[in-house]
Amino acid sequence: MKKECYLEDPRFSGIAPLAERAWLSSPTMHREEKFYVDEAIETNWVSTIGANINEVERAFAQRLGRGHAVALSCGTAALHLATRMCGIRLYGQPATGHGSLEGRRVFCSDMTFDATVNPVAYEGGEAIFIDTERDTWNMDPASLELAFEKYPDVRLVVLAHLYGTPGKTEELRRICDRHGALIVEDAAESLGATYRGRETGSFGDLSVISFNGNKIITGSAGGMLLTDSEEEALTIRKWSTQSRDPAPWYQHSEMGYNYRMSNIIAGVVRGQLPHLEEHIAQKRAVYERYREGLRDLPVQMNPFDAANSVPNFWLSCLLIDGNAMCRQERTDLRADYWTAPGRSCPTEILEALAAFNAEGRPIWKPMHLQPIYKGHDFVSAEGDVSADIFRRGLCLPSDNKMTPEQQDRIIEIIHRCFD
Ligand SMILES: *Cc1c(COP(=O)(O)O)cnc(C)c1O
Repeated sequence: MKKECYLEDPRFSGIAPLAERAWLSSPTMHREEKFYVDEAIETNWVSTIGANINEVERAFAQRLGRGHAVALSCGTAALHLATRMCGIRLYGQPATGHGSLEGRRVFCSDMTFDATVNPVAYEGGEAIFIDTERDTWNMDPASLELAFEKYPDVRLVVLAHLYGTPGKTEELRRICDRHGALIVEDAAESLGATYRGRETGSFGDLSVISFNGNKIITGSAGGMLLTDSEEEALTIRKWSTQSRDPAPWYQHSEMGYNYRMSNIIAGVVRGQLPHLEEHIAQKRAVYERYREGLRDLPVQMNPFDAANSVPNFWLSCLLIDGNAMCRQERTDLRADYWTAPGRSCPTEILEALAAFNAEGRPIWKPMHLQPIYKGHDFVSAEGDVSADIFRRGLCLPSDNKMTPEQQDRIIEIIHRCFD
């Protein structure tokens, strides 16, 4: 439906569009960012060496209890080098022009952003997608176990923590250990979230954080790779700056990349880090306000394991009960729905929110449904949970700067969708 149709629909009568847009998740600058960026400019340390880089690497390694942190240009670059490092550890150095995972299968989270899994393809590997569990929306341990039965030769697992909610990290680790598999942990969305008291980013053989503009803290861009091995950290720093040998000329004996973080970006990250806890508290308040405000509707919030984990509440999401879904049809390029009394669907709610100047988003479309990964195997212990969450779920406007008044109006709009 067109925007005007919502604004003129009697179901939404008396509701005015938000004067200020409510964003999904936008950057929040404080004062310290400018201080560290200015300092970098004034001292002329603006390239890929400098005090900001040193300090963010130190601070992240310490915070996450890891031996080493390597500051990179983005989370995707960090995932690429983490994946490549695992491939080389497992299978040896590839010939020039070849990936480290050629001819190898890798188990990957299915419901995530494609940046989690694309690095497997960059390295020539074949991603096998593992279904999602209902209780955290992360990689399902039972499906992972099943995948190892089907493909016992697999030695690498790439898993993400979705929307700031930790997966069952210890269970997944136990399964991987039993099969001698390494873990690349994508904690891009979950900085500050804990599982049994330990922060995400501390569970992988190599782990990754993102400072993309919409994450819980941002550098405007940027990523961080974490490892306990000094040798790996030194190698990855070298790869990220074009793999120059310590020779008197430009000499290269390994493949190189231009993936290093700049000292300017590191200044923004450095200024944001003291505000992480404050952002998490704001995001939690948003989540709890939705949970209260939507309690009477046939919906659930994105679930987490309250006994064992504390999410960072990066995004608040909804799952509509199956019997409260109106008819909704999605092809690869479009979505339609047919509204019905007492029912709604993600397409209707997202369109209604957009008409009233609020930004929601569909759930990450599962990787096994992506045209680019057609033909890749998908292993599931319990039907296709990913597809079900994708069909019935959506991400709500979750900006930490959203006012209670804006959020109340969003909650009212969602109620009207079910009228
Ligand atoms: C944002 C994100 C990334 C990519 O990080 P960039 O810094 O944008 O490259 C990877 N994985 C997940 C799950 C993400 O949400």
